[in-house]
Amino acid sequence: MPTHSTQSLDVAAHVAASIVPAVLDVLGQRWSLAIIQALQQQETSFGQLLAALGIPRSTLAARLKHLQSMGCLEPAAHGYRLSAAGHALLPVVSLAQAWSGNNRVIYRHACGRDFVPVLRCAHCLEPIRARDISLEAPGEPPDLKLPKPLRRSRAEFSLPASFGAAEILGDRWTALIIALGFFGVQRYSDLARHLAIAPNILAARLQRLCEEQVLRRDGPRYHFSERGLQLFPLIVALTEWGDNWLRPPGQRPTRMAHLPCGHTLSPQLCCGGCGQPAGLESLDPAGMGVPVAEFRAGS
Ligand SMILES: [Zn+2]
Ligand SMILES: [Zn+2]
Repeated sequence: MPTHSTQSLDVAAHVAASIVPAVLDVLGQRWSLAIIQALQQQETSFGQLLAALGIPRSTLAARLKHLQSMGCLEPAAHGYRLSAAGHALLPVVSLAQAWSGNNRVIYRHACGRDFVPVLRCAHCLEPIRARDISLEAPGEPPDLKLPKPLRRSRAEFSLPASFGAAEILGDRWTALIIALGFFGVQRYSDLARHLAIAPNILAARLQRLCEEQVLRRDGPRYHFSERGLQLFPLIVALTEWGDNWLRPPGQRPTRMAHLPCGHTLSPQLCCGGCGQPAGLESLDPAGMGVPVAEFRAGS
């Protein structure tokens, strides 16, 4: 992975000004991912979502309104359905669900195998790994007029202490620590300087990430564990989605290089079983009901 210290200053500025914080404002709440996932296969009514998610009516209403104002979903005859931008979140949602560690199968791929999402380089088809990527050109600092991010509800703070992708994405500091780490900013002192974050807040986030075996501490540096490295494709998918769907046309997106083939990285979601590209049209629900359990409290 890219750990050139000469690069770290530029990279820190890049991540702070990148599309990632804007994406987190859209998706960085536990229920946003669950709602998107629930709507992936079909139009769903408010009542069905309420029953499937088991969250307070007012929380669901606020999340739906926010996702609608961000252009991810739209009202339909009998409820809500995903917009094109919402459908394009398939890589983010499926990688987040897979990372969260529940091996429950959500989809079956057209090849007949259980769908295990793998993000590959569209050019050489190698799986995307952190050590194979370098920042080619930072994106323009996005000048976005987004609705104010929602405050996290009291109910979300009091959820049982499961730790999945929703916890990473749902906490802006945690997500930024991960994003900086992938581009080589891994020292405590560098993280503290670049994030301008209170020392006790940074220390608590790092400790939690170590307890959850995302990071491991080695003196002043925090390295990614094997589990932590598996978050990298999710960060790539988030960046790609933000650049495609949140950036105003004409703004320069983030460009990353895929070192094994030398091309600018263009990620493609594939089936881990057969290696073929996977989109919603090639996936069938594998089970019964609305598949949202991975993002639910205590599941
Ligand atoms: Zn490649
Ligand atoms: Zn397949």
